[in-house]
Amino acid sequence: MTARLIDGKALSDTVKSDVSKRVLSLKEQGIVPGLAVVLVGEDPASQVYVRNKAAACDKAGLHSRVIRLASDTTEGELLDVVHELNADTTIHGILVQLPLPAHMDASLVIEAISADKDVDGFHISNAGLLMTGQPLFRPCTPYGIMKMLEAENVSLRGAEAVIVGASNIVGKPMAMLLLAAGATVTLCNSKTRDLGAQTRRADVLVVATGKPGIVTGDMIKPGAVVIDVGINRSADGRLVGDVDFESAKAVAAAITPVPGGVGPMTIAMLLVNTVEAAERGPAERGAA
Ligand code: NDP
Repeated sequence: MTARLIDGKALSDTVKSDVSKRVLSLKEQGIVPGLAVVLVGEDPASQVYVRNKAAACDKAGLHSRVIRLASDTTEGELLDVVHELNADTTIHGILVQLPLPAHMDASLVIEAISADKDVDGFHISNAGLLMTGQPLFRPCTPYGIMKMLEAENVSLRGAEAVIVGASNIVGKPMAMLLLAAGATVTLCNSKTRDLGAQTRRADVLVVATGKPGIVTGDMIKPGAVVIDVGINRSADGRLVGDVDFESAKAVAAAITPVPGGVGPMTIAMLLVNTVEAAERGPAERGAA
């Protein structure tokens, strides 16, 4: 068997063209959805992510504002920027690019973002809303994965879903979304005793650890759907995922490639969240 490739790039283009239509109809009502991206310091990967996010906004007709701050910016100065964006009516979504420099407390900064502009979905009240089944913003990476599973007609009701990696930005919200869709969810972390015993039960396997090749073909149930979130730079400079692609594709029914799988969907869902925030409008702000 050779697994079907799940084309995140193609699906992200479809999602983005739907976003463009929603932007046009907002513009007819005099609203231009706006996203502010704050970048502190010169981390090269973050610079690329921020550039890509701003370019995707511009292409879809959203207004984007990138605020670049020096790496020695104080936490107080960053909080002032966030407060100013909270009050800016032309901005519907605010994203502070992580990681922040070590002298800053990332959770304090994220909590300062107005929850109704938190398009990353990382604010503690958005995490709580997601956990209790009333999501305001779904974190972009798991949200994009749900869209991919939907587009692939993967049946989640009663399915065994195993997630490897339990971070606040990927693994945990992924678990909540899969659970809400009716899957039986197992969430693994670095202390999981026999990882293969867990992953081999999965009808849907999501891997998000940042450890290249942590999941190999022998750890996958034949016919499973495998979603590889990892983005790692291999010794020869290529981008690789967390799943050993060659051995996995011989066993799985469908698999996401890296690059071209989850990554493009993450950016597309950021646009979706920003448009949703603009559509919600100021009247509903604070209602959640
Ligand atoms: P974190 O480092 O925050 O979390 C990694 C998680 O993996 C932790 O829960 C950790 O366990 C777990 N883990 C580490 N080693 C093992 C192991 N041997 N067995 C089982 N679990 C393990 O990473 P992120 O969630 O932020 O990112 C994960 C990967 O996804 C990275 O490669 C990142 O670049 C990529 N990523 C890709 C995105 C995209 O758009 N494609 C978006 C976001 C991330 P513990 O909790 O015990 O420490």
